[in-house]
Amino acid sequence: MEKSIYQLPFRVLERSFFYRRSQHWNSVQLLNFQNARLKKMIRYAGLHVPYYRKLFSEIGLDTLQFRGVEDMQKIPLLDKETVRTRKDELLSDEANERNMTWDSTSGSTGTPLHFVLNDAVMANKIAALLRSFGWAGYMLHSRTLMVQSYYYKNADFQSSRFYNVIRYDSNRLSKTTALKLVAELIRKPVKIIIGFPFDIVMIGRYAAEAGKQIPSPQAIITYGEKLSAERRKLLIEYYHSPVFDFHSMHECSAMISQCPQGNLHLIEDFSYMEIVDANGMKTATKGLLAGTNYYNFLMPLIRYNTRDAVQPADRICDCGRPFRVVDEIFGKECDAIKTPDGRILGAVMSHSVDKAKGVVMSQCVQDKIDHLIIRIIADSSYDADSQVALEAGLRKRVGNEMKLDFEIVSSLEKTPGGKTPFIISRIKDQI
Ligand SMILES: [Zn+2]
Repeated sequence: MEKSIYQLPFRVLERSFFYRRSQHWNSVQLLNFQNARLKKMIRYAGLHVPYYRKLFSEIGLDTLQFRGVEDMQKIPLLDKETVRTRKDELLSDEANERNMTWDSTSGSTGTPLHFVLNDAVMANKIAALLRSFGWAGYMLHSRTLMVQSYYYKNADFQSSRFYNVIRYDSNRLSKTTALKLVAELIRKPVKIIIGFPFDIVMIGRYAAEAGKQIPSPQAIITYGEKLSAERRKLLIEYYHSPVFDFHSMHECSAMISQCPQGNLHLIEDFSYMEIVDANGMKTATKGLLAGTNYYNFLMPLIRYNTRDAVQPADRICDCGRPFRVVDEIFGKECDAIKTPDGRILGAVMSHSVDKAKGVVMSQCVQDKIDHLIIRIIADSSYDADSQVALEAGLRKRVGNEMKLDFEIVSSLEKTPGGKTPFIISRIKDQI
């Protein structure tokens, strides 16, 4: 498990051949694959990972007798809080500086998490992702607009002729920068647009308000936050293009993507996904998505509770792929923050809290155009440095004109629907 960045492109290529074939498996071939991978992962975890050695002995799980899919429910769900507080115990005794890469995320929930990935996970993720994008018509070198958080210092967007891509920095989303981008898109149209739905909607809205028509791309691929029916409708209205929704997560425990027939498939040859109730038992109705990556031996996350809920669909898709279908994914939509200099920041804001230690949960409330309240549920490791890191992360995104107030709290505000959003805007009418 030597780590080398030079190997990654070759690994991606090799895995791409695998993913090209595996989408044509039948359900028996898929099940055999899942059983083999899960057996390997559970046996490895029982041998090499302190957390699982202890857990399996407590629940009396004999890893040599473990059969795969049908025995998964014997293992309790793994909660984000456990990963946050016991990450060292979740590391394999084979993990070392050379073969692992630490990554962090706060997802859309504002809970910072640190975990380890290796090249095998990354190669599988990229290859599976490229296959999903291919379902939308994307090919390597298709002219593409990527809308993401790039932190450009002196540019709103940059073009790379080599990759045939325009990269627009979503941290700089404003009417002025969007219209500059729109002029570029009219001058040289793109085939594919990839990014957060909120940002792509806003670019389309600014164009429409200015009476400009963005040439329709072949497809729009959205990720990173919930694609509501309303936002999908707006995307189709502004761009006249089909929209493909894509979900993945930094932890690589789950992947869901839309096929050309319009159905959302669980990408079951990338990770093992279960739809469960709060006790970890399988449910046929709306339930939590729990996932087990097949390749992350250095830090196995087994039955990891993603905290996203999905609505399973009781039908088989006409596209012929063996992967299960879900009707809806809940839990990723959030408000946006408007900065005094006119930029609008959606889900990208959650990355502001990635680097601060001791933050259990957080929430940003905007009550004025130049005022943010950051509510923090902290644990005992939260200190003055945490606040400095938090402020630095926020400043990077919201700029210096925004006043920031930090509040240590014991609970966060919920929506009437019971969600705890990371961003709450009290000035929505002004956006
Ligand atoms: Zn399908």
